[in-house]
Amino acid sequence: MPARRGRHPKARGSESIWTSRAMRSLAEAEPSVFWLDDPAAPPALPSLVGAVDADLIVVGGGYTGLWTALQAKEADPRRDVILVEAATIGWAASGRNGGFCASSLTHGEANGLDRFADEFDTLEGLGRENLDGIEATITRHGIDAEFERTGELDIAVEDWQVAELAEFAQVLAEHGTEPVLLDREQTQALVHSPTYLASRYDADGVALVHPAKLAWGLRQACLDLGVRIYEHTEVTKITSDGAGLALSCPFGSIRGRQVALATNAFTNLLRRLSNYIVPVYDYVLVTEPLSPEQQDAVGWEGRQGLADLGNQFHYYRLTADNRILWGGYDVIYHFGNRIRAEQDQRLTTHAALAEQFFTTFPQLEGLRFTHRWGGVIDTCSRFTTFWGRAYRDRLAYAVGYTGLGVGASRFGARVMLDLLDGADNERTRLAMVRTKPIPFPPEPFRYGGIQLTRWSIEHADRNGGKRNLWLRALDKMGLGFES
Ligand SMILES: Cc1cc2nc3c(=O)[nH]c(=O)nc-3n(C[C@H](O)[C@H](O)[C@H](O)COP(=O)(O)OP(=O)(O)OC[C@H]3O[C@@H](n4cnc5c(N)ncnc54)[C@H](O)[C@@H]3O)c2cc1C
Repeated sequence: MPARRGRHPKARGSESIWTSRAMRSLAEAEPSVFWLDDPAAPPALPSLVGAVDADLIVVGGGYTGLWTALQAKEADPRRDVILVEAATIGWAASGRNGGFCASSLTHGEANGLDRFADEFDTLEGLGRENLDGIEATITRHGIDAEFERTGELDIAVEDWQVAELAEFAQVLAEHGTEPVLLDREQTQALVHSPTYLASRYDADGVALVHPAKLAWGLRQACLDLGVRIYEHTEVTKITSDGAGLALSCPFGSIRGRQVALATNAFTNLLRRLSNYIVPVYDYVLVTEPLSPEQQDAVGWEGRQGLADLGNQFHYYRLTADNRILWGGYDVIYHFGNRIRAEQDQRLTTHAALAEQFFTTFPQLEGLRFTHRWGGVIDTCSRFTTFWGRAYRDRLAYAVGYTGLGVGASRFGARVMLDLLDGADNERTRLAMVRTKPIPFPPEPFRYGGIQLTRWSIEHADRNGGKRNLWLRALDKMGLGFES
């Protein structure tokens, strides 16, 4: 997740992570995704064998693909829709994220104001509408996604973050939002951590979900409306075919009038996307369920989503069975946009996360982590979704959510359908929809630039949030790098 800033005060540098409490807590953690490791996981759907056709072919079975298929069918039940997924529905980012479902379409308000100041209020309104639309869909289709509209608490854990909270509150006030600011005592009264200095509480703009159950529920809703879904069916090639497009798969082919590309960080099918996207790994831990005594020791009765406010931030939340999911902090990029299954695990990051967890909640020392994993995020230099068309407008794509796509993917899908329909409306007229992020440079400059940026961000957090020359130059150019 999330687009926040925050570095833990007492876990700086790699030398402090190998503590016995961190190692003990991780000793039995399964290297697997807690959300996907669930009895509610549905049985596999068949792979595509042979030749088929459809009006609309959706490639990718994460939230973006599922929302595209669902909204297309809801708008026009006669539209013949096929969805193809290379592995299983929701196995990638959509089934392994933090489950923070935010109304923000712009990776947070600060980023939205920086990049789209003129249309910020419209984007905020569309974002609220989008989150309400997600809640309504979940209710309408009876999806058990453990949806809880708990809101989010953004927490300052350093003095400079307290000052930034107050400054940003003034900016928001100019846009008609009166943010709820809480001081140290009020914040610590809600959730008991000695590291909390102040916070902002957004009561309505964020919901929490069980990410995999949301994907599986959307899958079922699509099937109920007549979408044909093929799993374990990788599209290997797209070619023009008369008035439509032809997609090649290992054991079959699909012809269709239109294609919606919803492949997130996987850019092989449309190479130009790799200019704009860097796949970045984000890591997560989940604890065993808290005992009633441990729950009393942390408070947290409002079950809010929490995030600290540094450049390298943590995001954390309770699950339905009162475990704590704790993620964030590191942002790892591999040379050449490399994505590999073994990169889902990273012991140094998991150990740092574990140590930082106990600095935040020393009263929980002795608690064990049961799951550890990582996943890939489609980072772009403006941190928000961007859209485009190819193959003479017969294909549209929506990618670039960076770390905040759980909610935004529904809007990404909606706009993708608008583009395929050639619609001229409030959404397609947005600068956010009409423009693209600045591309990343090619390798080896890409790798070098990202490493320098990571180092600078870490340095800024250690120095009262002060951004060095490199970060200031990137800010000026509108280029960024985040999880
Ligand atoms: C660890 C982690 C934590 C996160 N936490 C949050 C959070 O708390 N809140 C938030 O808002 N966001 C969070 N995110 C981001 C969020 O999960 C994503 O933005 C969102 O899930 C993107 O959905 P998607 O459908 O676009 O992509 P994905 O879920 O990645 O789906 C893309 C799908 O396309 C398929 N595919 C790719 N190529 C092909 C092909 N050639 N043929 C067929 N299928 C193909 C893939 O197999 C994959 O299933 C997090 C991400 C990670 C990794």
